[in-house]
Amino acid sequence: MEFSGRDLELRSLSRQLCKKSARRGFDFKLMLVGESGIGKTTLIDSLFNVESTRNLGSQYVRGQRDATSTTRLCERFFELEEGGVTVRLTVIDTPGFATELDSNGCVQPVLSYVERQLDDFYRMEQGTDRSKLQDGRVHALLYLINPSSRGLKQLDLMCLKALHSKVNIVPVIGKADTLTTSEKANLKAWILQDLSRHGISVYTLPEFDECFGNQADQHGDDVYLRNQYDSLRSCMPLAVVGANQLVKNANGQWARVREYPWGVVDIDNPEFSDFLKLRELLIMYMEDFKDKTHEVIYEQIRLNRLRQSDWQMSRMTKTLAERERLLREKDEELRRLRDAVEGLQRASTAATATASRRVYQQQRRRQIAITRPVLAPEHLGQTVHRLVWRRVARPPTVVNCAVVLKLGVAITISCHTNLIRNAHVYKLLCSICNSEVQKVRFIHFNVLQI
Ligand code: GDP
Repeated sequence: MEFSGRDLELRSLSRQLCKKSARRGFDFKLMLVGESGIGKTTLIDSLFNVESTRNLGSQYVRGQRDATSTTRLCERFFELEEGGVTVRLTVIDTPGFATELDSNGCVQPVLSYVERQLDDFYRMEQGTDRSKLQDGRVHALLYLINPSSRGLKQLDLMCLKALHSKVNIVPVIGKADTLTTSEKANLKAWILQDLSRHGISVYTLPEFDECFGNQADQHGDDVYLRNQYDSLRSCMPLAVVGANQLVKNANGQWARVREYPWGVVDIDNPEFSDFLKLRELLIMYMEDFKDKTHEVIYEQIRLNRLRQSDWQMSRMTKTLAERERLLREKDEELRRLRDAVEGLQRASTAATATASRRVYQQQRRRQIAITRPVLAPEHLGQTVHRLVWRRVARPPTVVNCAVVLKLGVAITISCHTNLIRNAHVYKLLCSICNSEVQKVRFIHFNVLQI
């Protein structure tokens, strides 16, 4: 499709992005792991030219050392500047790694450091204030392999297996100057075999077009970049030599060398060492290391976390539902128990009432048999009055009138027959009977000495 008029100038976008990134600078975190004496510190110094680089100091990572391990983590900070581009570099060295007899414990401090950085980033990202988001994640881990081994050792396998899903691993053969050309080639092949046999994934270069597609077209250096890319790819895993000694070479330039009685090893010489390729890998693919850290490794960890928290939530919900169900069941059981108890109480009250009614009736029957007449309380006073009046309806005289209550209390009333006629006794008896009737329920009386 052809457009008439001016181009949209989308190319300027990439220029803008480049300028913006260059102004901001780059932050990169690199970790070196490998057994003690393999040449980690020397390699760091060689890679970043410590003599000429701005060294911002170093510090031991706190709280990393555990009692079973001699491994310590030391962070070193550098600032590299070239052509207006700044790289703030944090290098983590692991002095003391694998120096103990049982080396199993040395992996843990490294693993927990890498995990903690990912955790911290995850927490910050989940937080509300994302403006203070600090990226402490390790972007690349150079794992140095002993040149005298035949492939990966047990410790290497253990360490790589623990770390390969948490960080971009670049396996590197250290002290490559101690290997002949064929030994180096064999060792590289064995390492690749071991990695694939044990399912360990290490950092792989992105596709060429993905990285250099545009760049190659623009500058017309497609062939050069392609060769560089292919050569780097075919050299994996890299075998490097490190050196601290600086000498001037035949061209009058400073070179890092290892001097031996039989000759000098220039670590930049691609025939001896993949040192330059390692530097190229770290610098040219820096953004890719960071992208993979964020988009592949971190994303997977984030997903796992979310799934885990989802699972925990659903488990909590299930537990809550289960608890509610249990509570409902318990409530129901309690209700049933209460009903049963109430039923029992009712039954026992009824039984007691029946029993006491029966006892009462029996007693009453017995009482009736013993004492006659038996009178209801409301008729008691009347009857007394009548009895007394009938028997003593003669000239006025004194009579004793007694009422024997059920509890054995006898109330004797002495009164004049005139009073009886005036119904005083009648009233008195009525009041006694009414007050006592609830308590004794059964009242009888005898009229004495009439
Ligand atoms: P680290 O304990 O892993 O940090 O190892 P160092 O960097 O302290 O190096 C231990 C020893 O190995 C030193 O004597 C270094 O000079 C030496 N060394 C470092 N790199 C190389 C290398 O590439 N080849 C050889 N032959 N020796 C090296």
